[in-house]
Amino acid sequence: MTTKKSRGVKASKYVYLFGTGKLTEGDAAMKNLLGGKGANLAEMCRLGLPVPAGFTITTECCVDYFKNRMKFPSVLKAQVEAALAKTEQQMGMKFGDPKNPLLVSCRSGARKSMPGMMETVLNVGLCTRTIPGLVAKTKNERFVYDSYRRLIMMYSDVVMEKAEGVEPAEGKGIRVQLDGMLQEMKKSKGYQKDTDLTTDDLKKLCDDFKTRVRVVLGKEFPDEPMAQLWGGVSAVFKSWNGRRAIAYRKIEGIPDDWGTAVNVQSMVFGNMGENSATGVAFSRNPATGEHKFYGEWLVNAQGEDVVAGIRTPSPLNEATKSEHNASLPSLEKAMPKVYIELDNIQKKLEKHYKDMQDIEFTIQEGKLYMLQCRVGKRTGTAALNMAMDMIGEKLIKESEAVMRLAPAQLDELLHPIVDPNAEKSVKVLAKGLPAGPGGACGQIVFTAAAAVEWAKQGKRVILVREETNPEDIEGMRAAEGILTARGGMTSHAALVARGWGKCCIVGAGSIHVDSVCKKMTIGDVVLSEGAFVTLNGTKGYVYDGQLAMISASENPRFKKFMAIVDKFRKLGVRANADTPSDAQKAREFGAEGIGLFRTEHMFYGKGSDQPLFILRKMILSSTPEERRKALDELFPFVKASIKATLEAMEGLPVTIRLLDPPLHEFVPESTEKQEELARSLGISAENVRSRGEQLHESNPMMGHRGVRLGITYPEITEMQLRAIFEAAGELLKAGKKCHPEIMIPVTCDVRELKDQKVIACRVYDEVLGKLNLRSIPHMYGTMIEIPRACLLANKMAEEAQFFSFGTNDLSQMGFGFSRDDIGGFMPDYLNKKIIPADPFQTIDQEGIGQLIEMAVKKGRGTRKDLKIGICGEQGGDPASVEFCFKTGLNYVSCSPFRVPIARLAAAQAAIGAGRKN
Ligand code: PEP
Ligand code: MG
Repeated sequence: MTTKKSRGVKASKYVYLFGTGKLTEGDAAMKNLLGGKGANLAEMCRLGLPVPAGFTITTECCVDYFKNRMKFPSVLKAQVEAALAKTEQQMGMKFGDPKNPLLVSCRSGARKSMPGMMETVLNVGLCTRTIPGLVAKTKNERFVYDSYRRLIMMYSDVVMEKAEGVEPAEGKGIRVQLDGMLQEMKKSKGYQKDTDLTTDDLKKLCDDFKTRVRVVLGKEFPDEPMAQLWGGVSAVFKSWNGRRAIAYRKIEGIPDDWGTAVNVQSMVFGNMGENSATGVAFSRNPATGEHKFYGEWLVNAQGEDVVAGIRTPSPLNEATKSEHNASLPSLEKAMPKVYIELDNIQKKLEKHYKDMQDIEFTIQEGKLYMLQCRVGKRTGTAALNMAMDMIGEKLIKESEAVMRLAPAQLDELLHPIVDPNAEKSVKVLAKGLPAGPGGACGQIVFTAAAAVEWAKQGKRVILVREETNPEDIEGMRAAEGILTARGGMTSHAALVARGWGKCCIVGAGSIHVDSVCKKMTIGDVVLSEGAFVTLNGTKGYVYDGQLAMISASENPRFKKFMAIVDKFRKLGVRANADTPSDAQKAREFGAEGIGLFRTEHMFYGKGSDQPLFILRKMILSSTPEERRKALDELFPFVKASIKATLEAMEGLPVTIRLLDPPLHEFVPESTEKQEELARSLGISAENVRSRGEQLHESNPMMGHRGVRLGITYPEITEMQLRAIFEAAGELLKAGKKCHPEIMIPVTCDVRELKDQKVIACRVYDEVLGKLNLRSIPHMYGTMIEIPRACLLANKMAEEAQFFSFGTNDLSQMGFGFSRDDIGGFMPDYLNKKIIPADPFQTIDQEGIGQLIEMAVKKGRGTRKDLKIGICGEQGGDPASVEFCFKTGLNYVSCSPFRVPIARLAAAQAAIGAGRKN
């Protein structure tokens, strides 16, 4: 590992200390080795913050552990024992000591945060031998047994069941069983809250828990601290390969071979009574970006209670109270001194890291401890607001602000919201916490599996759960929105949803969820699986039925941000658009031209009936005369469509591609349409059918399409060129600006370009004469979408003034994967990791990338100023945009909605390249 080598550390060092003073061995830069949590714990120690001492076992150890068939490296034992001894010294306690026992936690922590996806065990070290000592020391027997019952629950679940690969039936897991026993005990005693349980109750529960563990799992709960510690460490390692961690990695594109670190940290207790507490906070609001210290806390609780979403937590301060938690006490009021200290720490951390921090803290008998800090996940809206605010505060530079929004987050900013007018006219069904903004409307389902299944069938679903649970990860991904009855804004699932920009409402307390009977009840309204609801995730409101959605309104901050983005961008961004209204939209999103105008699109959709009918006549003509007649009829439609788009672009370049698809695609299939056509052509319906059949091809994607049509039917090319030149010429004469670029598709040889150019030159001269013009500015170029064209790009550039990579076809022809048939095998290729990603979504840089690089080099070898772009679907994919930038393309072209994403990705590529140099 390079980190190691560059730091000159011995290869076998697996354990790094953190704690007071000089003892800390790691720092924030060591994320790859120590994981995010470990690196930041070390950094906080270096900043002198109150962090309980401990040590981090490296991610590299985890990787070696898996390589070694789940055996620890031999040197690890001695390193852990030495680190434990140092930790004991700092804390003035001893692990396993009967009089003065130290307890520790074992927490996961990967390079990139994976909230709630891996395991944690708290209170490790409590056993028959150490319990009396801790009772005597704390004089709080109830607390000790509460901690013990938590240890048994967590340990039996995480270490003895999950890590051992035990797969219990739904609802029969050991944790659920033990929780059931706890609830049973509360019920039998008439208690409301967990905190009502007495010492004796807890003692009995601990005994009963241990018996149940023995019966269910066939093993004793370990009574030896060291055995507990090693069990905890191995379980955390194993949780890297747990089901939900794997699913999350797949979605987030995190490599499987990174491994997780384990942080073994001295325990501090938030459950020691009314002056103890635990909480999670953000230095700014992660949903909106508002610059207010924001968070949640629970009195007399352990950290997991907050993130697991078991109890609805209280707000941190008065300023961020909402109508949902107004009645709960804030930390600011309940523990003012601690609050001020915490507030100062969050400010210090934000200044140090220059970014919004997500922190976890515990208060033990009035003393504050920091357990974690990391750069906080945020919604797209929050990311935008924070980046702009931080420029204003001079915390970050503009270039850094540009890097702060993931291109995909822009997508979220352009997402729909519930139409405020529609909202006015209906009653709110339920209210919850606004965990993820935007709107979502869909059919309710009650399990993650159903969400995945229904979404596969093309349905829009809202996943409704009692509480947020990271096990639901795949269902959350598949759902349009998420709604839960319990849990807070900082519960893991809310965090994950927010990271994805999902609309999400949590803690809607008035909803009663019955996932067994697949229904939810709110007052006297009962909604069963499949019923429609609408969520307003910005306000936390739930509505019955389907409400109208509108696109997010013009956001002035967004515009300002994009203006900054464009300062850094070097790559041009155009849009693929075929109508004046798409062209208009593209310009609103900042497109600098049209990179692909697909002529054939005028024959689909609204208003296409008449031109389509004429086109069909042209296709089914049996003589050149018939065809010419039909082309003459078609001409005004083609010209009008091109003219309107050129006009809408006001002089910006418009790349007009000549007719591309195989002609048989336009032959009518219905008898009615065939008969209508037959009447107009004066032939029989049977004749229409048979002419259509003659056009049929076995392999149309490689058949009579693109330039091949123009080669066999030059009159089709001629008509289109005349339409382009006349449209442009007339606009020029009317004093308007326009710049058409003629693009010949599916070429594989320069002679094809030469052949078509003869027609272009002739028609150009004729139009100049007709309109009495001296010139019509234009360019003549080709798509590069066949591998042979890449190999011979030097020749192609002799005739072409520009290239545009058609990476849809180039990937199709390069891989030999039919674009239309990949559904049958692509999922298997991805699941089996035969290829890392779908090449039709992101350019296969390893293979197809070479063809592109070669074509760029060869093409520019012939024509230095060759203009080069890309207009395949991948043009809006951030990784592909970066590749295009590095390869020296002039522009990318993508669908209008992806234009802002491509602009941002292009700016980030330029900034990234500058940083590397
Ligand atoms: C391409 O092949 O990448 C392209 C843009 O053309 P089409 O998708 O229309 O074949
Ligand atoms: Mg193509």
